[in-house]
Amino acid sequence: MSRAARLLSTLTALLLAAVPAAAQGGRALRGHVVTADGASAGGMRVYVQWRAVGDSLPSVDSADVDSAGEFRVPLPARLPDSLTVIVDAADRARRTHHPSLARIARAEAAWEHGFVLAPREWLIPRGFFAGQRVAVSPLRARRPSCPGCTNGFWIRMAGTRNPTGFQGWPLSRFPLRVAFERGGSVPVGAVPDSAAFWRAASGVESALGMDVFRPVPFGQTLPRGLEEDPDDIVLVRVDRALSTPGLTTMVGSRGNVEYAGVALQRAGAVLAMGGMELVQHEMMHALGLGHTCAWPSVLADTHRCPDLRAPTLTPEDVAYTQLLYRVRDLQRDGSLRWGLDAAVEGERWITREPAGVVAGPGWTTAGDTTADADTTVRADTTWARRPRAMPPPGS
Ligand SMILES: [Zn+2]
Repeated sequence: MSRAARLLSTLTALLLAAVPAAAQGGRALRGHVVTADGASAGGMRVYVQWRAVGDSLPSVDSADVDSAGEFRVPLPARLPDSLTVIVDAADRARRTHHPSLARIARAEAAWEHGFVLAPREWLIPRGFFAGQRVAVSPLRARRPSCPGCTNGFWIRMAGTRNPTGFQGWPLSRFPLRVAFERGGSVPVGAVPDSAAFWRAASGVESALGMDVFRPVPFGQTLPRGLEEDPDDIVLVRVDRALSTPGLTTMVGSRGNVEYAGVALQRAGAVLAMGGMELVQHEMMHALGLGHTCAWPSVLADTHRCPDLRAPTLTPEDVAYTQLLYRVRDLQRDGSLRWGLDAAVEGERWITREPAGVVAGPGWTTAGDTTADADTTVRADTTWARRPRAMPPPGS
C-alpha cells in the first residue's frame, strides 16, 4: 500500500469512528436469532413494546430478522424502565416456532440480545424414536405435576438466575461417571445388581440417542489430592430408610447440575418387577428432569397421574429432553440469553394462559418449591421467580 493510500485508509477509519451514533440510525435494540432445530430465522419479526410514563396505550416498533438471523429495532429516545421484546413469525398464520417473549430492563437495552427459538414440532434426530415428529409445548413442559409444585418436566433450579434457564448438565460432562456407593460402612449385598441396573440405564441412553452414562468404580468418584470435587458424578446407593422406592437429589449451581445422588429403598428392587422402570425413572431425574402429568411419561407421577406412567421413555420424554439439551448447548457461551424460559412466556402470551394458574384451578406457581415427591433439587442460593402477567397477543 502506498503512503497516500495508507493515509486515506487511516482517514477513512478516523472518519468512520467519528460518525456519531445518531447518524447511524439512533438508538436501537440489536440482537440475533437462532432456532433449536436449525431452521432459518428469516421470516421472523422482532416486536419491541414499551409504555412511556403517562401513555395509556403501549407503543410498538418492529423489524424483520434478516437471513443471517440479525435484527435491529429502533428504540425511543427516552427509554422506559422496561421493554417487552417478542420474536415471532412475521406471518403468524404460518408460525413454525414458538414466539419468544423477553422482558428487558432499561440498563440492558444496549446489550446484544440473543434468542433461541423452540420449534412447535420436534423431529427426533437420533435414538430409538429417530424420525418421529412430536408436537412440542414449552408451557406443558413447565406445567407442575402437583398442587404446590412449581416445577414440571423442565426444572428451574432454586437460586438460579442464569442464561440457560432450565437445569441440566453441561453436554461436555457426558458421559457422566456412575458408580455404586461401596464405602466401608456399606454391607455386602447392599448394592443393586449391576448388570440389571446397566440394562435399564442403557435403555435411557438408546432412547435419547446420547451417550450419557459410563460405569466407574466407586473409588473414582472421590475427590483426589488437590483435585476439586468432581462435577460429573451420579452416585447410586441403597437407603432402607427411604419412604419411596427411589429418591434422586440433584445438586448444582447456575442451572448446571454438578452431582446427582440416586437412592433406592431396596437393593433387590432393580431385579424385581418394575425394576427397569424404577431405574429409568430415577436416571431421568439424574439427568435433571422432573415429574410431569402433561404427557405419557416414565416420569409421570404415580400418585397424581398413574394412567400416564410409562414403563420406559416415551417419544415425548425424548423430544422434550433433546430439546432442552439442544437449547442449553446453543446457549452455553452466554450470548443467547433467551431460550426456553422465553418460549414458555411466548406460548403463555399467545394462548392467553394467565400466569400463576398454569397448573389448574386453584393452583399457583408462585414461590419456588424445591422438593416434590421423590425428587429434590438443591442449589447454593435461593431465589424465587414469580410469573408476571403478559400483554394480550397482538397488542
Ligand atoms: Zn420421581
